[in-house]
Amino acid sequence: MENLNHNPVTMEQGDTDFENRVVAPEYSQEDADVENPLRPRTLSEYIGQDKVKENLSVFIEAAKQRKESLDHVLLYGPPGLGKTTLAGIIANELGVSLRITSGPAVEKPGDLAAILTNLNPGDVLFIDEVHRLSRSVEEILYPAMEDFALDIITGKGQMAASYHLPLPKFTLVGATTRAGQLSAPLRDRFGVVLRLELYSPDELARIVTRSAKILGISIEPDGALEIASRSRGTPRIANRLLKRVRDFAQVVADGSITYRAAKTGLDRLEVDKLGLDANDRRLLNALIKFYNGGPVGLETLAAAIGEEPVTIEDIYEPYLMQIGFLNRTPRGRCATRAAYEHLGLKPPEPADDGQQKLF
Ligand code: ADP
Repeated sequence: MENLNHNPVTMEQGDTDFENRVVAPEYSQEDADVENPLRPRTLSEYIGQDKVKENLSVFIEAAKQRKESLDHVLLYGPPGLGKTTLAGIIANELGVSLRITSGPAVEKPGDLAAILTNLNPGDVLFIDEVHRLSRSVEEILYPAMEDFALDIITGKGQMAASYHLPLPKFTLVGATTRAGQLSAPLRDRFGVVLRLELYSPDELARIVTRSAKILGISIEPDGALEIASRSRGTPRIANRLLKRVRDFAQVVADGSITYRAAKTGLDRLEVDKLGLDANDRRLLNALIKFYNGGPVGLETLAAAIGEEPVTIEDIYEPYLMQIGFLNRTPRGRCATRAAYEHLGLKPPEPADDGQQKLF
């Protein structure tokens, strides 16, 4: 199988250093050595996401029986949940090759044409961040997905000529963190749309235990659960914390990740009981202290903490909402009672909630 490593994500930064943020869900250089060996290769090795797995296994089996290519698949959900891994598994289960690219990497229609004409029948083409394809590239993709053909126009005016070039039947697996940003015509051309959910601590503990075994690290079940419960529902973070905690276990314990070793390591990394780091706490503190817990508009909140709105939406909020610390309301973002309590702050009296002060 092809190398599944991502390019490091570059992102507009506020004063957060993403590369060094241990609980960032995006791929970072730190993950490079373990990301590939830790990737499950088959659906049965892939932990959690049961609904997605059930659906995919039916579609894969049906395509294999009919000896047809699998319908195009769109995977969406926050970073680090296993979208690239699933694309590799789909190719592996179908017994075909995988080609990997990403929306920003395909700059011109010709780049995509070159990739498509080099595919073999049945191959899987994975396009990460598919919502970032340019309009002109997308237009090449429509007939390719629908009719397995390239419509190319060369020259201008009287010299213009159009070619209809047949392509091998292939399966496009698109991944996006933002399904809402996908253009409607592109979204409509995916026959299978699957949403990945954040993982439960138990599922993450199984992932951590599996990873420890592959990396030859000794770990106790409550050590694995402690890492899992601070990993923000995200396997990539769980694997990264496992690696960091291993170093602590080596120095402070006898190398085995016990509950105590995990707790000491994670406390030192300032990843709290729920997996929040200093940045999450900064966001919640700003929301509570500057804006009385909200509602406050996304742009205003972003400006207050020096981050891009998209960073807040994609990186911080999914997890804060999942643990019930933050709500998105039509009037803006609101901190919940649980968020106040977690930060050791006094929640507003219920009687004050939502009441308009007239004088
Ligand atoms: P995404 O493409 O969604 O950002 P990846 O597929 O690159 O995420 O997954 C990140 C890492 O998490 C991979 O190295 C893989 O080892 C691990 N991982 C993801 N999902 C699972 C899973 N369901 N079971 C085991 N490991 C997983």
